[in-house]
Amino acid sequence: MPPVQVDTLISGARIITMDAERRVLTDGAIAISGNLIAAVGPASVVENEVTPRERIDGRRFVITPGYIDCHVHTTGDPLTRGFMPDNIEDSFDDKLVKWVLPRFLSQTPEDERLSARLAALEMLRSGTTCFAEAGTIRHLDEAVEGVEDVGIRARVGIWVQGRDDADPVKANDEAIALLDDEVRKYPAAHDRRVSAWPILVGHSTNSDEVWQHAKRLATEHGLAVSAHMSARQSDPDWFLQRHGRRPVEHLHELGVLGPDLCLTHMVHVDDRELDLLADSGTHVILCPLASVKGAFGITQHGRHAEMVARGINLVLGTDGYNSDLLRQLHLLSGLFKDSVPDIKQMTAERTLELVTTDAARALQLSGTIGALEAGHRADLVCHDTWRPEWMPLMNAVSQLVWSADGRSVHSVWVDGERVIENYRSTRVDEEALFAQVQAAGDNLIRRSALPFVSAWPVVR
Ligand SMILES: [Zn+2]
Repeated sequence: MPPVQVDTLISGARIITMDAERRVLTDGAIAISGNLIAAVGPASVVENEVTPRERIDGRRFVITPGYIDCHVHTTGDPLTRGFMPDNIEDSFDDKLVKWVLPRFLSQTPEDERLSARLAALEMLRSGTTCFAEAGTIRHLDEAVEGVEDVGIRARVGIWVQGRDDADPVKANDEAIALLDDEVRKYPAAHDRRVSAWPILVGHSTNSDEVWQHAKRLATEHGLAVSAHMSARQSDPDWFLQRHGRRPVEHLHELGVLGPDLCLTHMVHVDDRELDLLADSGTHVILCPLASVKGAFGITQHGRHAEMVARGINLVLGTDGYNSDLLRQLHLLSGLFKDSVPDIKQMTAERTLELVTTDAARALQLSGTIGALEAGHRADLVCHDTWRPEWMPLMNAVSQLVWSADGRSVHSVWVDGERVIENYRSTRVDEEALFAQVQAAGDNLIRRSALPFVSAWPVVR
């Protein structure tokens, strides 16, 4: 067969393919044509199969599929990150009303555009090529524009609640209209990187009708519902008091469980809930860093190792505090090994599956992203190994999880487009953006009237 013309060939690299056989190529090549991977294999084979327009020397790179973050708040936290002290009790009055809502609700549409752009840039710079929003965007159009500016792939959704005991009909109607509008406006068409999902705030904020409507939309449009649940004991307590059953039991009664539902956190679950999650194929999203920072008690109460052992698809999110998924990987692996304790838990290889193949399954994108295989979308990351943390290069998978992190991300492709090159965005003027977000963050804090708190004297 004569060679096929392709756009780009990266040759001579170590490639962690995440394909069905989990091949790791030591002298590999990957060819990109349009928005697809045209070929992946040993360099000696692929070099004879293609004629590239652009050739890249891959000898300094370890190449992986783009990482997938299944739960991140792109607006809300990013513009005011670090402002809230890390010792605020997680109570409704102290934390949510005093610290969180003033920052979230003070954001203008332009703030959300900047916030989403910053969050998406931070993700791409550390190798995340696809994410699912956590459902706290208030100005969806602007947030989508911010995300699209940077070139990342995303599933986004607007802030949807729908439970208001004072006026339940109005609250329901408004929430359902929001869900219908976003799915109509940002359909999950294959040629678009950013599309809408029915992403609910979750916990106790959504009415039964909103849960069921979201599920209907997911089924009709090939999407999934995503929601927060049971980070703390307060969710089971609320559901038991209101409905006489625990959260997962209630969602089962509503017909909402299934492979098109992703529940985030799920720290406080009982045996029956584990059974229902496993039987239904519901995905569970764990945010390791957010969980330990928030003192959710995952090492005391979490049953995530049991979930994995029972075949529940456990995937990862960053929750937006720190968007480097590779830092979540070594934390997660260590937490699993130590909390059981069992050194065989959550190996480096298994951990990597959580942010590639398994995450693609949760986002209904298996066969499209999450592995480097011919025919998949060309979403890939080149880690620069000419750095101290990668030297000497022995076992690329082990070193990726236990020694490296997002700092070594040199280049990133999404949909065949090189969106990060030599550590910088090819689309966004990064320094201009940093100046804009600093000003926007300072203004946001001023408007929200929150006090600056520091345990140490800050000299101005
Ligand atoms: Zn969250």
